[in-house]
Amino acid sequence: MQTYDYIVVGAGSAGAAVAYRLSENPANNVLLLEAGPDDYRWTRIPVGYAKMSHNPAVNWLYHSEPEASTNGRKLHVPRGKMLGGSSSLNGLAFVRGQAQDFDTWSQMGNQGWSYDDVLPFFKRMESYEADGDDTFRGRHGPLRVTNPEPNALLARIIEAAGQVGIRHNPDYNGASQDGIAMSQATIASNRRQSTAHCYLEPARFRPNLRIQTEALTECLILDGKRCIGVRYSVHGEQREVRAGREVVVSGGTINSPQVLELSGIGQPERLHGLGISVRQALPGVGENLRDHYAPRTRWAVGKRGMTYNDRARGLGMVGQALRFAMSQPSLLNAVAAPLRAFVKSREGLEAPDLLLGWVPMLTELGPKGPFISRQSGMTCYAHPMRPESKGSIHITSNSPRQQPAIAFNFLSSPVDAMLTVTAIRIARSVMTAPAMAPLLVSEIGPGPGLQTDDEILGWVRQVGETTYHPVGTCKMGNDPMAVVDARLRVHGIAGLRVADASIMPTLTSGNTNAPAIMIGEKAAAMVLEDACV
Ligand SMILES: Cc1cc2nc3c(=O)[nH]c(=O)nc-3n(C[C@H](O)[C@H](O)[C@H](O)COP(=O)(O)OP(=O)(O)OC[C@H]3O[C@@H](n4cnc5c(N)ncnc54)[C@H](O)[C@@H]3O)c2cc1C
Repeated sequence: MQTYDYIVVGAGSAGAAVAYRLSENPANNVLLLEAGPDDYRWTRIPVGYAKMSHNPAVNWLYHSEPEASTNGRKLHVPRGKMLGGSSSLNGLAFVRGQAQDFDTWSQMGNQGWSYDDVLPFFKRMESYEADGDDTFRGRHGPLRVTNPEPNALLARIIEAAGQVGIRHNPDYNGASQDGIAMSQATIASNRRQSTAHCYLEPARFRPNLRIQTEALTECLILDGKRCIGVRYSVHGEQREVRAGREVVVSGGTINSPQVLELSGIGQPERLHGLGISVRQALPGVGENLRDHYAPRTRWAVGKRGMTYNDRARGLGMVGQALRFAMSQPSLLNAVAAPLRAFVKSREGLEAPDLLLGWVPMLTELGPKGPFISRQSGMTCYAHPMRPESKGSIHITSNSPRQQPAIAFNFLSSPVDAMLTVTAIRIARSVMTAPAMAPLLVSEIGPGPGLQTDDEILGWVRQVGETTYHPVGTCKMGNDPMAVVDARLRVHGIAGLRVADASIMPTLTSGNTNAPAIMIGEKAAAMVLEDACV
């Protein structure tokens, strides 16, 4: 059996950073296993997310279990399946979260995860190419981060937000998150800045890093209470490989608990029931699932020429392609939601608890995914950032090819339901502020007929979707439901860590790509430190 010092399972946001940092030292032999393909043409062009959201070649295309709280619908759960993982098809917004998110993790007993502790890793990963306070922003990391130019429509919304008390705060990843700003973007030189591009392209020719794509990890190989390797398959051919030092599982929030459960690490009764022998009882595997559930409010825009719908019409797309070719702002290099506001649901809060994100476009959903509507308009999604509702992800068979059952349990907490209604009311207040009047904006959804909390909530249950930020299913901590400790070592199993969004004990305030990469950076640093002890 071939032996590597380190085996990393999953080349996504976190796993690519882990492999990059571990292989910086030529003395470390590293194997990176990725279930998806090496490259795909739409990953380079920022707007490629639209081409990949329903594409089985590069997307796991999961769905949730139908649940009464969201009107029995199965929700679409895309996840990247290629080098770069979800960073190769995500919406490109770059959001760290709040200092308080990480301080909370630390206060939960996770030593080394306060904001002061993680800030050096956030700085280390990025090259921020706009003005910003160097106390908070990094200038020399692999990931290029830029600020898009506001267009006339988005500038108008920023003005309208000011009229209802939401201040303009250009660097929400700086000293304070509070306010409205253009979305910082993992886009530079017209190109998506995925971890495949920023971390793996520069590292892939290192002789001590082997990247094996199309390699589905089926389970971990355990020797008693130690992980000694990985069993994986390439096009149906099974292979085994040994780890001299450690295995790091970075399969993401859905697949990491799946890999653990398939390896006999999880809830004993569940594993017994599927014929899997229990190697380590850990009741928290697959539990503590958290995600953002967001209704998209919809607005018609009467003034012509302002929205993406207008710009994409007729020969408009040709013009957009030409602009893209000339590196000018274009639909092809746009963040999915280019404007966002972090707002407080009520006076007196220390930090924002709601997120509003604007898309200057209306879309419809067809059988092959979303398409640009003929009607001119805007979308604004609005939701609480730190939901209390928790769900779970568990395998339902002992086959690594069967999708696990994803039960979000969205809106099970009354606080989440109430905050979602508040977020919609704030979106309404911005969209009807005086600055919006010249654009002839009118509400399509929820629609002016829905005004009471119950009416709005009924609509939310009917139309909400995830914003694709599942976290928490291999939670970090020291309580009985924790899966990994503060150094991301799986409780009870030596030589095994989990490093990806699944280790987050709570959901960060915003999108999750930046925190996932930070987790990869910090995990690699801890692995290297522990190797020296
Ligand atoms: C459609 C979409 C839009 C998003 N938009 C944004 C956004 O605008 N901004 C933002 O910050 N966040 C966004 N996110 C979320 C963000 O991209 C993710 O939170 C982040 O990428 C998660 O990183 P990860 O390392 O935990 O997992 P991933 O990046 O998903 O990586 C997991 C990797 O492991 C591989 N893998 C899984 N199982 C196995 C196995 N058994 N064997 C081998 N390989 C395996 C997968 O194929 C994948 O490559 C979006 C996500 C999606 C899906």
